[in-house]
Amino acid sequence: QESAPAPTTADYRALDAAHHLHPFSDMGALNRAGSRVIVKADGVYLWDSDGNRIIDGMAGLWCVNVGYGRQELAQAAYRQLRELPYYNTFFKTTHPPVIALSARLAALTPAPFKHFFYCNSGSEGNDTALRIVYRYWAAQGKASKKYVIARKNGYHGSTIAGATLGGMDSMHEQMPSKVEHIVHIDQPYFFGEAPAQLSPEAFGLERARQLEAKILELGPDNVAAFVAEPFQGAGGVIFPPSTYWPEIERICRRYDVLLVADEVIGGFGRTGKWFSHQHFGFEPDLLTLAKGLTSGYVPMGAVAVHERVAAPIVENGEFNHGHTYSGHPVAAAVAVANLTLLRDEGIVERVEHDTGPYFQSSLREAFGHHPRIGEVAGAGLVAGIQLAQSPRERTRFANGSDIALACRDRAFNGNLIMRASGDRLILSPPLVVSHAEIDEIVDKAKHAIDATL
Ligand code: PLP
Repeated sequence: QESAPAPTTADYRALDAAHHLHPFSDMGALNRAGSRVIVKADGVYLWDSDGNRIIDGMAGLWCVNVGYGRQELAQAAYRQLRELPYYNTFFKTTHPPVIALSARLAALTPAPFKHFFYCNSGSEGNDTALRIVYRYWAAQGKASKKYVIARKNGYHGSTIAGATLGGMDSMHEQMPSKVEHIVHIDQPYFFGEAPAQLSPEAFGLERARQLEAKILELGPDNVAAFVAEPFQGAGGVIFPPSTYWPEIERICRRYDVLLVADEVIGGFGRTGKWFSHQHFGFEPDLLTLAKGLTSGYVPMGAVAVHERVAAPIVENGEFNHGHTYSGHPVAAAVAVANLTLLRDEGIVERVEHDTGPYFQSSLREAFGHHPRIGEVAGAGLVAGIQLAQSPRERTRFANGSDIALACRDRAFNGNLIMRASGDRLILSPPLVVSHAEIDEIVDKAKHAIDATL
């Protein structure tokens, strides 16, 4: 008997268009153009259904930190699926993979983080962080502390709480109802928002002091937490000036406001440190984790809780929060295998000392004196490339986001995955990328940018 022929790209596209609603997509436009069908992956490369090899300059959605095709992760999942595919951690039960993962995370996060709560995504992680924050203040007898301050152009996910925390208009527009008591301050985006005469250091302080002003406006007794990404990822890979985080930390301590670092992108080696708050040198109270925790092989998120926050929660009755899949055994087993690879292969150290500096210097060589590039921002294996009409004056293109999208699409047609955010282009490749692969990414990005501008 003849076996059925493999589906063609046209077959895939017809079924996709008929039945699949894509996230963050204009479905009409997408269906007219047709999705690219990704069928397999290995290392830093993807293959589409037409057999094209594509270099993934984004590690999926900033998550495939150990690269594609790692058998260790597949085997960990397979073993765990056979042994114990599911059990929950409610109602006085636990299981070996989640115990192992918690102990492992306690060993690799900075010393004060000893307790971990699990969920399935970064968005749920931020919802969880808010629940922990409120629970903490209630346990401290300070239930009036309920305002949470976040930032414009931050991204914290797509659940109602995550999208409210985020500061992107597009995420708010289709949402008539938001979580109450979340307010926003301005972002520390020097290139785009600093007045001409201000130094980056002065601008960093000014933007940090907006937090102080907002706390004083709301009343310190009413402010529970400040939530921010150590560097903004989806907002354009915006690295704050060096003065920003020390001042934010000082303000949070002074007014007794919890500091939540959303490490969903920055965690697990992206900047060359295990966690990006270590790159900036401050100490948060909570860390939101996801993406690189499992390198995206299976979904998992977590919140790391500083001992000073965990202690009153551990001692004060039931915490009414959780998910069917909190600490899912297969996800936990994959996470442990993933963390083992990151540790035993010295992947994070290589990002810090070798591939990260090479990536950053290659990008700066390609774009540092480019007539239409305003800055290359980033550290380790993450970078934002700012388009500019006039880099010296920091003048931006009126249609900068259209140009960035055109660059992104041209790169995509040239088999490089790169992203656009406003008038910035973003690269964030798997942490196992080699020098030769970095050369390929930078060459393709430069070609796409030069051909578009
Ligand atoms: N927080 C940050 C900083 C993110 O970049 C993202 C996703 O990109 C999220 C939270 C949301 O994570 P998820 O898409 O897994 O819900």
